Amino acid sequence: MSIHVAVIGGGVGGLCLAQGLKQAGVEVSVHERDRTPTDRLQGYRLHIDPHGSQALHDCLPPHLWRRFVETAGFASGFGFVDDRLTPLMTLDVPEAAPERAHHSVSRVTLREILLDGLDAHFDRKFTRYEHVDGRITAHFADGSSVRCDVLVGADGANSAVRARYLPHAKRVDTGITAIAGKLPLTPETRAWLPRQMLDNPLSVIPRRPAGMFLAPHVLSGEGYLMWAYAADGFDASGDLKTEVAQAVADWHPDLVRLVRETPAVEVAHWPIRTSTPVEPWRPTTVTLLGDAIHSMTPMRGIGANTALRDARLLCRNLVEREPLDAIADYESRMREYGFAAVKASLRSARQFVSGNRAGKVVFKSVLRLLEAVPPLKRAAFREPAVD
Ligand SMILES: Cc1cc2nc3c(=O)[nH]c(=O)nc-3n(C[C@H](O)[C@H](O)[C@H](O)COP(=O)(O)OP(=O)(O)OC[C@H]3O[C@@H](n4cnc5c(N)ncnc54)[C@H](O)[C@@H]3O)c2cc1C
Repeated sequence: MSIHVAVIGGGVGGLCLAQGLKQAGVEVSVHERDRTPTDRLQGYRLHIDPHGSQALHDCLPPHLWRRFVETAGFASGFGFVDDRLTPLMTLDVPEAAPERAHHSVSRVTLREILLDGLDAHFDRKFTRYEHVDGRITAHFADGSSVRCDVLVGADGANSAVRARYLPHAKRVDTGITAIAGKLPLTPETRAWLPRQMLDNPLSVIPRRPAGMFLAPHVLSGEGYLMWAYAADGFDASGDLKTEVAQAVADWHPDLVRLVRETPAVEVAHWPIRTSTPVEPWRPTTVTLLGDAIHSMTPMRGIGANTALRDARLLCRNLVEREPLDAIADYESRMREYGFAAVKASLRSARQFVSGNRAGKVVFKSVLRLLEAVPPLKRAAFREPAVD
């Protein structure tokens, strides 16, 4: 049976699904509310783990997969330090074939690659859908519409498709706020930034109830060092940079300088929200993927990877089975690993900003122990199994 799949949302998950379906000969169109491919896209890089890499490898045609591998950097490691920048543990990323490896990629470049060759329509803000004569009609704010057999809501955390399809599915505030900034990497800033901040992403575990994440992003030009400070109940109504600089005043002077020298225009705040598990629902030819169904805190860096995992599974199922059967199987598996990822991300977020002094002392001791005993470290940080 030949079907038309309409994907609402041209983010990481929706575009990966569309590429996979197109490769398999399924008619697919993407409908994105942004006016242009680079509209609103933040410059932050994405860490792609083996789940994401495998999905991109399986869904992209070979020439686009090669372009991804050539433009993405290999992630080499991850470190934990205290607020005096004393190393606690370093996690080395094992070497692996590109489709099982960790990569670091610019969001803009990834979107360019994922859009290549697709039937993608921009400036199409989805508003509603209706079932007509056994098919689905999706409507957009500009008055246009599309007829399809399967409608996939891949429209992100504030999904309009989810709001209509599963109105009881909720997202809640965690009470945690992250303030993020980008310090440009120039000859001047490189001269004083310590090597450890430039080599690998770092998680700073301070004595206080807060956390900071640092990630160097070296692009074709000079790049930047991204930092994100997070705390529970942070008052983001004042001058963000000054507030963070005060909060980290007794940390290592290079961390304080990092915040102080970041241009104010490069500092933004994100309230951290998370979805809550949804009870199984009766499958239909409307479905959801990625943040549209299981949005999570960014503290584990697995939201996009889980969206890519959804895309790979849903694509395979739609190619091999009848739509309803394909979606039923996809949804039952996606709910399990998707909401497990939501739970793990929330746990990481709470741990990141924890005010429990004893817990922090234990966590730091565990990290030092793992650093001292490599087999234990390998066992504690096993790579995710990709099916
Ligand atoms: C700072 C930060 C860092 C992160 N780092 C990582 C990381 O390193 N690794 C990782 O795995 N995850 C990371 N994440 C999470 C990741 O960004 C998301 O989980 C991922 O983008 C979700 O992909 P998606 O395709 O489901 O949705 P999105 O990428 O959000 O795409 C949804 C698309 O739908 C469009 N849309 C929305 N509404 C409509 C509408 N009504 N009509 C039409 N189109 C619509 C949007 O414009 C958007 O293009 C990070 C998140 C943040 C905030």
